[in-house]
Order: sequence, then C-alpha cells, then structure tokens
Amino acid sequence: MVGRRFYIYFAFISLIALAMFIMVPLTLVILFSGIITWIFWHTLTPKIAFRVIPRRLLRENIIVGGRPRVGEVLSFVEMLRLSSLPALFSFSLTLFLYEIANVPISSIDDVSVAGAIAMFLLPLSIFISAKWVVEYSGLFSINRFEKNVSKLTIIEYIEEFIGFGSILAILLTLGQLAAGVDLENLIISLLALFYMVLYPSTLATILFFKFSYSSVLTRFLNKVRPFRAEINIELRCPRCNQPLEGGEFTCPNCNTQLR
Ligand SMILES: [Zn+2]
Repeated sequence: MVGRRFYIYFAFISLIALAMFIMVPLTLVILFSGIITWIFWHTLTPKIAFRVIPRRLLRENIIVGGRPRVGEVLSFVEMLRLSSLPALFSFSLTLFLYEIANVPISSIDDVSVAGAIAMFLLPLSIFISAKWVVEYSGLFSINRFEKNVSKLTIIEYIEEFIGFGSILAILLTLGQLAAGVDLENLIISLLALFYMVLYPSTLATILFFKFSYSSVLTRFLNKVRPFRAEINIELRCPRCNQPLEGGEFTCPNCNTQLR
C-alpha cells in the first residue's frame, strides 16, 4: 500500500529529524511514539472502527461487502495527506490542552515539552485509522425500504470532531495573536511542534499500511459480517418507471427529458 517514492521521502525527513534532534534525546521519543501509536492502532483499530459505524445502519440496513482497497499502492500525495491527519489531530489536542491550562508556548524548551505531549497523545488519533478502515473497506449500506445505497461511513459527530481539530488549532493561533504574542516566534513554534508530531505520525502510518492494514481489515470485516452480494443497479424513468439503458436523452416511453 505504500509507494517507493514515499519511502525515499520518509528516509529524507528521517535524516532531517536526526540532524535536528541529534543533540536532544527527542529522536528516541519520536521513534517510541511512532511505534507505540502503530501498536495501539494495530491492536484496537478493528474494535474502534466497528464502534464508529452508526448503530442505526447496523440495525436497520443491510451491510453489503464490496471490494476492499488492498494491495493497491497509495500515491505519494495521498500518503502524505494520510500521515498529516493524525499529526494534526494530536497537534490540535495539545494546543487545546495548553489553552485550557493557560500555558504559553514561547521558548524552544516549551516547544520540546509540547512536542513530547503531542507525541504522547498521538495514539488517541485511532479514530482516524478507524475512519480509514471503514472507508476503504468497500462496504455499502443498503436501505431496502427507501431503496438507497450509500458507502459505509462513520458516525457524523466523530467525523466532525476529527475535522474540528484543525479549525480549532487555527482559532487558537488567532487567539494567541490577538493576545499580542510575537508573530514570528509563534509561527516558528507551531511549525516546530507540528513537525515534531508529523514524524512519528508518518512512521505509524507507514507501519500501519505496510504491516497492519490487511489483518486489521480482516478483523474488522469479521466483526461487521457483511452480507455477500453483488449490488445491481437498475435505472428507471423518474416519471413513468420505464427501464432505461443509461444513455438516452429522452424517455422512450413518455418522452421526458432525461439530461
Ligand atoms: Zn418515462
């Protein structure tokens, strides 16, 4: 699932990380955080992914197995996007905790401490790995009565909670600016903090997609136990219910404009 170019990129940022943190024992903390996060995701993702499916869908709808995304190589950009999500989550959570405790992040030492906290909180981003598994599982939810089919997704408020994180981080940053914090200092601190947590997040994401994804997916599917069926789509005229091929411009029966 992980493309070769991504390994090259990862080796490159590893070198920068080593160069940056060679003086500080943070390198070990970074590796430790990435590996602990991966183990946490590997162990608990199937359970969490099952819990974040809306109960209503499991109760009322038929969950049908489609084609899970396995073996396909994720593009460089997609991998970069995926690994930035857990980092952003724990980055925002850390800023939020600092805001509640009313502690400023101003010196480089503060950034190191905040970075260590963010790395410690990184395993909590398991909602994100759960979301990946649900969305890549190829499962569809079918409502027999309303006759609609939709891709299986996670509970809406958890989705919003994940998305809310990044907005929160921006709001907090603006809040600090309004409080008269030095802009340059703030930007450097925040970038350093984000970078510190991006590294273990990338490590965990690579390990997850390389070594855990297919077993996590299997364990998740064993919990959901989807109904094995092909989904057939039938197109009909919205006005007279005449079966359609899909290429018509007007309905052959009632002449309604179709496109
Ligand atoms: Zn018609």
